[in-house]
Amino acid sequence: MEGDVSFMCPKCGKAKIVRTKHERKLATQYTCPECGFTGPN
Ligand SMILES: [Zn+2]
Repeated sequence: MEGDVSFMCPKCGKAKIVRTKHERKLATQYTCPECGFTGPN
């Protein structure tokens, strides 16, 4: 969907993290399912 972003986990590089425009706007935290890393963006 337009505005969505996806990227590999910056810590372990194993998991693909997808965030929607809506989630970024709300500054929703993400959690890596592989290593548990959390981050704001
Ligand atoms: Zn990770």
